[in-house]
Amino acid sequence: MPSGHENDDEQVLDSIGDAANPGTMTVCPDETLVDALDPTRALIVGGEHRRGGAGLFDVEDPADRRVIAAVADADRRDAIAAVDAAQAAFAGWRALPPRSRSEILHRAHALMLRDADDLATLVTRENGKSFADARGEVVYAAEFFRWFAEEAVRTGGDFGPSPAGGTRTLVTHRPVGVAALVTPWNFPAAMATRKIAPALAAGCTVVLKPAAETPLTAIAVVRLLAEAGVPDGVVNLVPSTDAAGVVGAWLADARVRKISFTGSTRVGQLLLRQAADRVVNTSMELGGNAPFVVTADADLDAAVEGAMVAKFRGGGQACTAANRFYVHTDVVAEFTARFGARVEALTVGPADTGAQIGPLISGAAVDRVTALVADAVATGARVAATAAVPESKGWFLAPTVLADVPAGAAILDEEIFGPVAPIVAWSDEEDLLRQVNGTEMGLAAYVYAGDLGRALRLAERIEAGMVGVNRGLVSDPAAPFGGMKQSGIGREGARVGLEEFCETQFFSVDWPV
Ligand code: NAD
Repeated sequence: MPSGHENDDEQVLDSIGDAANPGTMTVCPDETLVDALDPTRALIVGGEHRRGGAGLFDVEDPADRRVIAAVADADRRDAIAAVDAAQAAFAGWRALPPRSRSEILHRAHALMLRDADDLATLVTRENGKSFADARGEVVYAAEFFRWFAEEAVRTGGDFGPSPAGGTRTLVTHRPVGVAALVTPWNFPAAMATRKIAPALAAGCTVVLKPAAETPLTAIAVVRLLAEAGVPDGVVNLVPSTDAAGVVGAWLADARVRKISFTGSTRVGQLLLRQAADRVVNTSMELGGNAPFVVTADADLDAAVEGAMVAKFRGGGQACTAANRFYVHTDVVAEFTARFGARVEALTVGPADTGAQIGPLISGAAVDRVTALVADAVATGARVAATAAVPESKGWFLAPTVLADVPAGAAILDEEIFGPVAPIVAWSDEEDLLRQVNGTEMGLAAYVYAGDLGRALRLAERIEAGMVGVNRGLVSDPAAPFGGMKQSGIGREGARVGLEEFCETQFFSVDWPV
């Protein structure tokens, strides 16, 4: 299978933008890839591959709605058994020298790259995204193992005299304990590794519940971790259709000291309430509503290129997806025309056809986005461009550019999570910033401006955890990923990603002078 990536190391950061430039990749559907995962025994608890107490659940390919696997469905007892295994493995894993944990993570990185095409194929089958996007995701996902392999040996600490004298303060970091990881369907590989890698680097053991739509990639990743040398019980996998039951059981269990969640703000709020009862340490990566700002002096070719990446990666189903485009009135017609021409040329279809844009995850998602578009049009927006969609049973939706979208339209307030780009014209910077910041979401934002100083001044005034400055892509394992306001609490990746799985402890040491 041609990968299109000559050098995975160099491609790691760029590859996730490949939706706009898919090259010639095609995917070879391979049932044996799914069968090799033995999905009816998908629970991995203490190294044992097990059936679930709740039977089996189906996983569908959203491109044709065919069932591609029957997967073991965990119940609450399975959830507790996974915590038993993680707790039993904790002392040994924590005691392992950081260098040994680091070497295991380095091997995990290498194994993911070895199997990148197969993993990407699995991602396309259960998630539907294009092969280019899926492969980009896998390389990005693997990079978390390399980054945190490098961080594992640098947990550091601090030491110094107390100002009053007579004592020294010695600060260390220790693993927080058993960590519960809960991930969404939109990045089935990367959302898992972005949590597993720092947890393992810190010395934590984990219980992981992937989204029920996309459990297969998680099975493959956990199997690779065993091959990399992760001891039994350190990473336990619990696919389930009873998300509330499984995660609720974890949050009620005194041995679980951490929850790291990626998903919707609604579910994040539920979990924060539950975590409050036991004061569980929380990291929350929640929903977004990213503005994409274009000033009058911006390089429009670059802005259109960035818009394609920021909007259409994963078919718009990314938390960082540009959700609303604010383009200066002087250039809005030109931007809309150029962007629209690019969108009309997008190919839509199943991954194995080499299409650039796949289906949405479900019929409910198609209905939701269709209703947002209809509402925008009813309130005065104009359809400026759409791409052709194949006749299919799959959950395809036409990539669409909406112009003249009125302020207050629901599509500007809600996370679209689909391939629709609403454009609003602006002329006054203060008014622009009011609109941009007039939301409870604050995950990502994008600013395109010709004058870098102006771009940075604008970026500083935007309430978002991540701002792409003349770039349509912010994700980078070496950078702190996360949001302000209701987009989340905490950061993943970077050095801080490891600290999220650590407790700080200090010793006040008597130090007579
Ligand atoms: P979701 O909140 O519905 O589900 C996420 C996970 O939570 C899944 O594993 C699901 O099974 C589980 N879950 C659902 N209900 C639960 C409950 N009551 N108790 C415990 N667990 C529960 O989100 P989704 O639809 O899978 O993902 C899309 C959302 O995720 C979007 O809002 C997107 O912005 C967000 N997201 C955020 C980031 C980020 O890093 N900030 C990254 C990717 C996705």
